[in-house]
Amino acid sequence: MTKLLSGKEIKEKRMPELANRAASLRGEDIFPCLAIIRAGERDDDIAYEHTIIRLSESVGIDVRSLVVSEETEQAELIERIERLNADSSVHGVLIFRPLPAHVDEGTVCAALDPKKDVDGVTPASMAALYAGDCERGKAAAGVGLKAGFAPCTAEAVLDLLDHYGIETEGQRAVVVGRSAVIGRPVSLLLLERNATVTICHSRTVGIEALAASADILIVAAGLARDGRESGVGRAYFNANQTVVDVGIHADADGKLYGDVIAEDAMGAVANLTPVPGGVGTVTTLKLLSHVLIAAENGR
Ligand code: NAP
Repeated sequence: MTKLLSGKEIKEKRMPELANRAASLRGEDIFPCLAIIRAGERDDDIAYEHTIIRLSESVGIDVRSLVVSEETEQAELIERIERLNADSSVHGVLIFRPLPAHVDEGTVCAALDPKKDVDGVTPASMAALYAGDCERGKAAAGVGLKAGFAPCTAEAVLDLLDHYGIETEGQRAVVVGRSAVIGRPVSLLLLERNATVTICHSRTVGIEALAASADILIVAAGLARDGRESGVGRAYFNANQTVVDVGIHADADGKLYGDVIAEDAMGAVANLTPVPGGVGTVTTLKLLSHVLIAAENGR
Protein backbone atom coordinates (compact mmCIF):
# COMPACT_ATOMS: atom_id res chain seq x y z
CA MET A 1 0.00 0.00 0.00
CA THR A 2 1.57 3.29 -1.09
CA LYS A 3 1.16 6.29 1.20
CA LEU A 4 0.59 9.62 -0.53
CA LEU A 5 2.70 12.42 0.95
CA SER A 6 0.27 15.28 0.55
CA GLY A 7 1.50 18.86 0.39
CA LYS A 8 -2.05 19.94 1.20
CA GLU A 9 -1.73 18.55 4.71
CA ILE A 10 1.38 20.71 5.20
CA LYS A 11 -0.47 23.70 3.77
CA GLU A 12 -3.31 23.36 6.28
CA LYS A 13 -0.80 23.32 9.11
CA ARG A 14 1.47 26.11 7.83
CA MET A 15 -0.98 28.73 6.58
CA PRO A 16 -2.11 29.78 10.10
CA GLU A 17 1.55 29.92 11.23
CA LEU A 18 2.48 32.12 8.27
CA ALA A 19 -0.56 34.35 8.91
CA ASN A 20 0.49 34.81 12.57
CA ARG A 21 4.01 35.82 11.56
CA ALA A 22 2.71 38.27 8.95
CA ALA A 23 0.25 39.75 11.48
CA SER A 24 3.02 40.23 14.00
CA LEU A 25 5.13 42.10 11.41
CA ARG A 26 2.15 44.20 10.33
CA GLY A 27 1.57 45.05 13.99
CA GLU A 28 5.04 46.62 13.95
CA ASP A 29 4.23 48.58 10.76
CA ILE A 30 6.34 46.21 8.66
CA PHE A 31 4.24 45.16 5.69
CA PRO A 32 5.87 42.04 4.24
CA CYS A 33 6.06 42.44 0.49
CA LEU A 34 7.12 40.20 -2.39
CA ALA A 35 7.88 41.64 -5.83
CA ILE A 36 7.51 39.34 -8.83
CA ILE A 37 9.30 40.05 -12.09
CA ARG A 38 7.68 38.34 -15.06
CA ALA A 39 8.90 38.79 -18.64
CA GLY A 40 6.19 37.71 -21.07
CA GLU A 41 2.88 35.89 -20.77
CA ARG A 42 3.72 32.20 -20.34
CA ASP A 43 0.68 30.27 -19.05
CA ASP A 44 2.61 28.38 -16.36
CA ASP A 45 4.18 31.62 -15.03
CA ILE A 46 0.78 33.32 -14.89
CA ALA A 47 -0.79 30.32 -13.13
CA TYR A 48 2.02 30.29 -10.53
CA GLU A 49 1.74 34.06 -10.08
CA HIS A 50 -2.02 33.76 -9.41
CA THR A 51 -1.38 31.05 -6.81
CA ILE A 52 1.29 33.18 -5.11
CA ILE A 53 -0.99 36.23 -5.03
CA ARG A 54 -3.95 34.24 -3.66
CA LEU A 55 -1.96 32.58 -0.87
CA SER A 56 -0.01 35.74 -0.04
CA GLU A 57 -3.22 37.74 0.33
CA SER A 58 -4.71 35.13 2.60
CA VAL A 59 -1.74 35.25 5.02
CA GLY A 60 -1.12 39.02 4.85
CA ILE A 61 1.83 39.37 2.46
CA ASP A 62 1.60 42.09 -0.18
CA VAL A 63 2.57 41.19 -3.76
CA ARG A 64 3.72 43.59 -6.47
CA SER A 65 3.83 42.11 -9.98
CA LEU A 66 6.16 43.80 -12.44
CA VAL A 67 5.26 42.49 -15.87
CA VAL A 68 7.52 43.40 -18.78
CA SER A 69 7.46 42.31 -22.39
CA GLU A 70 9.56 39.41 -23.66
CA GLU A 71 11.57 41.92 -25.70
CA THR A 72 12.73 43.87 -22.64
CA GLU A 73 16.45 44.57 -22.76
CA GLN A 74 18.78 43.09 -20.16
CA ALA A 75 19.83 46.57 -18.98
CA GLU A 76 16.22 47.49 -18.23
CA LEU A 77 15.65 44.30 -16.26
CA ILE A 78 18.76 45.00 -14.21
CA GLU A 79 17.64 48.58 -13.63
CA ARG A 80 14.28 47.36 -12.34
CA ILE A 81 15.99 44.90 -10.01
CA GLU A 82 18.27 47.64 -8.69
CA ARG A 83 15.23 49.79 -7.98
CA LEU A 84 13.69 46.93 -6.00
CA ASN A 85 16.98 46.43 -4.13
CA ALA A 86 16.82 50.08 -3.04
CA ASP A 87 13.12 49.96 -2.10
CA SER A 88 12.92 49.24 1.63
CA SER A 89 9.21 48.37 1.37
CA VAL A 90 10.09 45.28 -0.74
CA HIS A 91 11.46 42.34 1.24
CA GLY A 92 11.71 39.60 -1.36
CA VAL A 93 12.03 39.43 -5.15
CA LEU A 94 11.08 36.46 -7.32
CA ILE A 95 12.33 36.45 -10.92
CA PHE A 96 10.36 34.06 -13.12
CA ARG A 97 12.70 31.92 -15.20
CA PRO A 98 13.64 31.04 -17.80
CA LEU A 99 14.14 34.65 -18.86
CA PRO A 100 13.92 35.40 -22.60
CA ALA A 101 16.78 33.93 -24.64
CA HIS A 102 18.44 37.28 -25.48
CA VAL A 103 19.00 37.92 -21.74
CA ASP A 104 21.92 36.49 -19.77
CA GLU A 105 20.02 35.01 -16.85
CA GLY A 106 23.06 34.71 -14.58
CA THR A 107 23.93 38.40 -15.00
CA VAL A 108 20.36 39.51 -14.31
CA CYS A 109 20.01 37.29 -11.23
CA ALA A 110 23.38 38.48 -9.90
CA ALA A 111 22.00 42.04 -9.79
CA LEU A 112 19.57 41.05 -7.02
CA ASP A 113 20.45 41.88 -3.40
CA PRO A 114 21.04 38.48 -1.67
CA LYS A 115 18.98 39.71 1.29
CA LYS A 116 15.94 39.79 -1.01
CA ASP A 117 16.85 36.64 -2.93
CA VAL A 118 13.96 34.48 -1.72
CA ASP A 119 14.49 31.77 -4.36
CA GLY A 120 18.25 31.32 -4.13
CA VAL A 121 19.26 32.62 -7.57
CA THR A 122 22.19 34.90 -6.70
CA PRO A 123 25.83 33.77 -6.64
CA ALA A 124 25.94 34.56 -2.89
CA SER A 125 23.01 32.25 -2.16
CA MET A 126 24.45 29.50 -4.33
CA ALA A 127 27.85 29.80 -2.66
CA ALA A 128 26.24 29.57 0.76
CA LEU A 129 24.29 26.48 -0.28
CA TYR A 130 27.41 24.89 -1.76
CA ALA A 131 29.34 25.55 1.45
CA GLY A 132 26.53 24.09 3.57
CA ASP A 133 26.25 27.54 5.05
CA CYS A 134 22.86 28.76 3.91
CA GLU A 135 21.39 30.29 7.03
CA ARG A 136 17.93 30.86 5.63
CA GLY A 137 18.78 34.50 5.03
CA LYS A 138 19.34 35.16 8.72
CA ALA A 139 22.86 36.54 8.37
CA ALA A 140 22.28 37.96 4.95
CA ALA A 141 24.28 41.09 5.51
CA GLY A 142 26.11 40.54 2.24
CA VAL A 143 29.23 39.38 4.04
CA GLY A 144 30.73 35.94 4.01
CA LEU A 145 28.77 32.98 2.76
CA LYS A 146 25.86 33.13 5.16
CA ALA A 147 23.59 34.83 2.70
CA GLY A 148 20.36 34.22 0.89
CA PHE A 149 18.04 31.23 0.79
CA ALA A 150 18.07 27.82 -0.82
CA PRO A 151 15.76 27.53 -3.86
CA CYS A 152 12.16 27.06 -2.68
CA THR A 153 11.49 23.84 -4.61
CA ALA A 154 14.62 22.13 -3.27
CA GLU A 155 13.70 23.11 0.29
CA ALA A 156 10.12 21.96 -0.31
CA VAL A 157 11.40 18.44 -1.01
CA LEU A 158 13.18 18.34 2.36
CA ASP A 159 10.14 19.84 4.05
CA LEU A 160 7.92 17.04 2.72
CA LEU A 161 10.37 14.40 3.92
CA ASP A 162 10.57 16.05 7.35
CA HIS A 163 6.83 16.46 7.73
CA TYR A 164 6.23 12.76 7.09
CA GLY A 165 9.12 11.67 9.31
CA ILE A 166 11.22 10.19 6.51
CA GLU A 167 14.78 9.80 7.72
CA THR A 168 17.54 11.10 5.44
CA GLU A 169 20.60 10.36 7.60
CA GLY A 170 22.52 7.38 6.25
CA GLN A 171 19.90 6.80 3.56
CA ARG A 172 20.70 6.33 -0.09
CA ALA A 173 19.19 9.19 -2.09
CA VAL A 174 19.14 9.20 -5.88
CA VAL A 175 18.30 12.48 -7.62
CA VAL A 176 17.26 12.37 -11.28
CA GLY A 177 18.11 15.79 -12.76
CA ARG A 178 21.05 18.15 -12.25
CA SER A 179 19.57 21.59 -12.95
CA ALA A 180 20.65 24.60 -10.89
CA VAL A 181 17.02 25.12 -9.89
CA ILE A 182 16.26 21.68 -8.45
CA GLY A 183 18.62 18.74 -9.03
CA ARG A 184 21.82 20.33 -7.72
CA PRO A 185 20.39 22.24 -4.74
CA VAL A 186 18.26 19.33 -3.54
CA SER A 187 21.32 17.07 -3.76
CA LEU A 188 23.31 19.50 -1.59
CA LEU A 189 20.50 19.78 0.96
CA LEU A 190 20.27 15.98 1.16
CA LEU A 191 24.03 15.80 1.62
CA GLU A 192 23.73 18.30 4.48
CA ARG A 193 21.25 15.89 6.02
CA ASN A 194 23.81 13.07 5.85
CA ALA A 195 22.18 11.18 3.01
CA THR A 196 24.45 9.38 0.53
CA VAL A 197 23.56 11.12 -2.70
CA THR A 198 23.84 9.98 -6.31
CA ILE A 199 22.96 12.51 -9.03
CA CYS A 200 21.70 11.14 -12.36
CA HIS A 201 21.15 12.97 -15.63
CA SER A 202 20.46 12.34 -19.29
CA ARG A 203 23.89 10.72 -19.85
CA THR A 204 23.76 8.40 -16.83
CA VAL A 205 24.29 4.76 -17.76
CA GLY A 206 22.17 2.21 -15.89
CA ILE A 207 19.85 4.81 -14.38
CA GLU A 208 17.04 2.34 -13.61
CA ALA A 209 19.24 0.14 -11.41
CA LEU A 210 20.66 3.18 -9.61
CA ALA A 211 17.17 4.57 -9.01
CA ALA A 212 15.85 1.21 -7.84
CA SER A 213 18.64 1.01 -5.25
CA ALA A 214 17.51 4.27 -3.61
CA ASP A 215 15.78 4.62 -0.27
CA ILE A 216 14.72 8.09 -1.42
CA LEU A 217 14.21 8.80 -5.13
CA ILE A 218 13.83 12.44 -6.19
CA VAL A 219 12.70 12.88 -9.79
CA ALA A 220 13.19 16.35 -11.32
CA ALA A 221 13.83 15.64 -14.98
CA GLY A 222 10.93 17.22 -16.87
CA LEU A 223 10.17 13.89 -18.53
CA ALA A 224 6.42 13.46 -18.78
CA ARG A 225 5.14 15.41 -21.73
CA ASP A 226 1.56 14.23 -21.33
CA GLY A 227 1.71 12.09 -18.25
CA ARG A 228 2.24 8.81 -20.12
CA GLU A 229 5.51 9.35 -21.97
CA SER A 230 7.70 9.37 -18.89
CA GLY A 231 10.27 6.64 -18.48
CA VAL A 232 10.13 6.74 -14.68
CA GLY A 233 8.12 3.59 -14.10
CA ARG A 234 8.45 0.19 -12.44
CA ALA A 235 12.13 -0.36 -13.28
CA TYR A 236 13.03 2.67 -11.11
CA PHE A 237 11.28 1.56 -7.94
CA ASN A 238 11.59 -0.69 -4.91
CA ALA A 239 8.91 -1.53 -2.38
CA ASN A 240 10.51 0.34 0.55
CA GLN A 241 11.19 3.51 -1.37
CA THR A 242 10.01 7.09 -0.93
CA VAL A 243 9.51 8.73 -4.32
CA VAL A 244 9.36 12.53 -4.57
CA ASP A 245 7.99 13.67 -7.91
CA VAL A 246 9.07 17.25 -8.60
CA GLY A 247 7.91 17.36 -12.23
CA ILE A 248 4.90 19.39 -13.30
CA HIS A 249 3.36 19.15 -16.75
CA ALA A 250 -0.04 20.21 -18.03
CA ASP A 251 -1.83 18.44 -20.89
CA ALA A 252 -3.95 20.25 -23.47
CA ASP A 253 -6.91 20.27 -21.03
CA GLY A 254 -4.80 21.71 -18.22
CA LYS A 255 -4.66 18.42 -16.28
CA LEU A 256 -1.40 18.20 -14.30
CA TYR A 257 1.06 15.28 -14.26
CA GLY A 258 4.43 14.63 -12.70
CA ASP A 259 7.62 13.08 -14.08
CA VAL A 260 6.76 9.74 -12.48
CA ILE A 261 4.20 7.34 -13.94
CA ALA A 262 1.93 7.55 -10.92
CA GLU A 263 -0.09 4.45 -11.75
CA ASP A 264 3.14 2.40 -11.87
CA ALA A 265 4.34 3.81 -8.57
CA MET A 266 1.07 3.22 -6.71
CA GLY A 267 1.43 -0.13 -4.98
CA ALA A 268 5.08 -0.46 -6.02
CA VAL A 269 6.70 2.04 -3.58
CA ALA A 270 6.19 2.87 0.10
CA ASN A 271 5.59 6.63 -0.25
CA LEU A 272 4.83 8.92 -3.18
CA THR A 273 4.24 12.66 -3.51
CA PRO A 274 1.16 13.34 -5.67
CA VAL A 275 1.01 15.77 -8.60
CA PRO A 276 -0.79 18.09 -8.17
CA GLY A 277 -0.86 18.61 -4.40
CA GLY A 278 2.70 17.54 -3.58
CA VAL A 279 5.98 19.41 -4.02
CA GLY A 280 4.40 22.34 -5.90
CA THR A 281 2.10 23.20 -3.00
CA VAL A 282 4.95 23.20 -0.49
CA THR A 283 7.17 25.26 -2.85
CA THR A 284 4.74 28.18 -2.63
CA LEU A 285 4.66 27.91 1.18
CA LYS A 286 8.48 28.01 1.26
CA LEU A 287 8.42 31.15 -0.86
CA LEU A 288 6.01 32.90 1.53
CA SER A 289 8.08 31.78 4.49
CA HIS A 290 11.25 33.18 2.89
CA VAL A 291 9.54 36.56 2.33
CA LEU A 292 8.56 36.63 6.01
CA ILE A 293 12.10 35.71 7.13
CA ALA A 294 13.50 38.49 4.90
CA ALA A 295 11.04 40.95 6.47
CA GLU A 296 11.79 39.67 9.99
CA ASN A 297 15.54 40.08 9.33
CA GLY A 298 14.94 43.77 8.65
CA ARG A 299 13.34 44.39 12.05
P1 NAP B 1 15.62 21.12 -16.56
O1 NAP B 1 16.39 22.36 -16.31
O2 NAP B 1 15.11 20.82 -17.92
O3 NAP B 1 16.56 19.91 -16.09
C1 NAP B 1 16.17 18.59 -16.28
C2 NAP B 1 17.26 17.69 -15.79
O4 NAP B 1 16.82 16.34 -15.96
C3 NAP B 1 18.57 17.83 -16.54
O5 NAP B 1 19.65 17.74 -15.63
C4 NAP B 1 18.56 16.63 -17.49
O6 NAP B 1 19.85 16.07 -17.75
C5 NAP B 1 17.79 15.61 -16.70
N1 NAP B 1 17.11 14.66 -17.59
C6 NAP B 1 16.35 14.94 -18.67
N2 NAP B 1 15.92 13.79 -19.24
C7 NAP B 1 16.45 12.78 -18.51
C8 NAP B 1 16.37 11.36 -18.60
N3 NAP B 1 15.69 10.75 -19.57
N4 NAP B 1 17.01 10.64 -17.66
C9 NAP B 1 17.71 11.24 -16.67
N5 NAP B 1 17.83 12.58 -16.54
C10 NAP B 1 17.20 13.34 -17.45
O7 NAP B 1 14.34 21.02 -15.59
P2 NAP B 1 14.12 21.65 -14.12
O8 NAP B 1 13.96 23.11 -14.23
O9 NAP B 1 15.12 21.08 -13.17
O10 NAP B 1 12.67 21.05 -13.79
C11 NAP B 1 12.47 19.65 -13.67
C12 NAP B 1 10.99 19.39 -13.49
O11 NAP B 1 10.54 20.03 -12.30
C13 NAP B 1 10.12 19.95 -14.61
O12 NAP B 1 9.06 19.04 -14.82
C14 NAP B 1 9.57 21.23 -14.03
O13 NAP B 1 8.32 21.58 -14.59
C15 NAP B 1 9.42 20.85 -12.59
N6 NAP B 1 9.40 21.97 -11.63
C16 NAP B 1 8.65 21.83 -10.53
C17 NAP B 1 8.64 22.81 -9.57
C18 NAP B 1 7.79 22.65 -8.35
O14 NAP B 1 7.63 23.57 -7.58
N7 NAP B 1 7.24 21.45 -8.14
C19 NAP B 1 9.41 23.97 -9.73
C20 NAP B 1 10.21 24.08 -10.87
C21 NAP B 1 10.21 23.07 -11.82
P3 NAP B 1 21.02 16.89 -18.52
O15 NAP B 1 21.57 17.84 -17.53
O16 NAP B 1 21.98 15.82 -18.90
O17 NAP B 1 20.35 17.56 -19.68
